[in-house]
Amino acid sequence: MGRVYNFSAGPAMMPEAVLKRAADEMLDYGGSGMNVMEMSHRGKTYDAIFQGVEAKLRALLDIPEHYKVLFLQGGATLQFSMTAMNLIGRTGKADYAVTGQFSAAALKEGARFGQARACADTAGIGHTKIPAQDELILDPEASYVHYCMNNTVFGTVWPYIPETGGVPLVCDMSSCILSEPLDVTRFGVLYAGAQKNMGPAGLAVVILREDILCPVSVLPGYMNYAVQIKAGSMLNTPPTYGVYLLGLVLDWVSECGGLTAMKAHNERKAAVIYDALDRSELFVSKVDRGSRSKMNVVFSTGDAGKDEAFVKAAAARGMVSLKGHRATGGIRVSIYNAMPMEGVEALAAFMREFEAENV
Ligand SMILES: *Cc1c(COP(=O)(O)O)cnc(C)c1O
Repeated sequence: MGRVYNFSAGPAMMPEAVLKRAADEMLDYGGSGMNVMEMSHRGKTYDAIFQGVEAKLRALLDIPEHYKVLFLQGGATLQFSMTAMNLIGRTGKADYAVTGQFSAAALKEGARFGQARACADTAGIGHTKIPAQDELILDPEASYVHYCMNNTVFGTVWPYIPETGGVPLVCDMSSCILSEPLDVTRFGVLYAGAQKNMGPAGLAVVILREDILCPVSVLPGYMNYAVQIKAGSMLNTPPTYGVYLLGLVLDWVSECGGLTAMKAHNERKAAVIYDALDRSELFVSKVDRGSRSKMNVVFSTGDAGKDEAFVKAAAARGMVSLKGHRATGGIRVSIYNAMPMEGVEALAAFMREFEAENV
């Protein structure tokens, strides 16, 4: 079987050029006679890869020097806990904007370490709309405000960066990092699990300002940002192969023209799907127009049987992993950086075809 168009929400499709390069380097990385995953993480060859990946990430995201970059394990989920453990100590309080599954999970973790409260919660409207700035009830004494920029499950994205009046902003960017340019200086901590837009699962990237750290108590060394910073993410063996693949993805993003070009590419792709939705009398999205995600498009026919038939028929044509999350049901089309235009065009054409046969 050839390659399919994989609309999975994560782990998600990788750029084909990246997989080919990884395959080329599978048996012999740069004349070393071994694969990157077989190398000592403290050796010269790997050190060059590791430092190179950080430099590439800093260049692409324009990360200022006073921000630290960490490559950790434990996914975004461990960052739900680590952000709280390392930051909530300043005042003992933190605000969380709950706009979906993962921000709710982050609040739950935060509450283990201090007084974490929801400064907004869109559960009552099925997380279909991002709250406006003036709907955020912010506590000026919060140690930080946490939010999730792109809501992978519900298909919404924050159309603005919240103003917090000087309270550090902590952001889960797992499903939108590298999808467009970003002003890193607006954030105290930002983090992302790699498996949506950056590489394979097993790697989480954290970008943070060291001066806002205030660990709650005696933390496990691994979960203490200050310890990780001091160790250069090498307190123990880092996810070596994942970091290497992230480097290949960063090279690919640069070759595509960088984050500005990536943004234009993603906007064009999302427009194809939303346009198909807006013209459709069968497929309906509950997501507020101003909150529409460019990475995850969530919709349904309103009939679970038809949704299932659509997902199945699409899979038979090589368009896979379109089933919605169990929390929403329906259909979810994830179109991260690696999804080519041909994939979304094929899907939009199939949506029209399916509709013609099913209304
Ligand atoms: C996938 C995802 C997570 C969970 O990531 P893990 O690496 O599995 O812990 C958290 N937040 C967002 C926004 C996600 O998309």
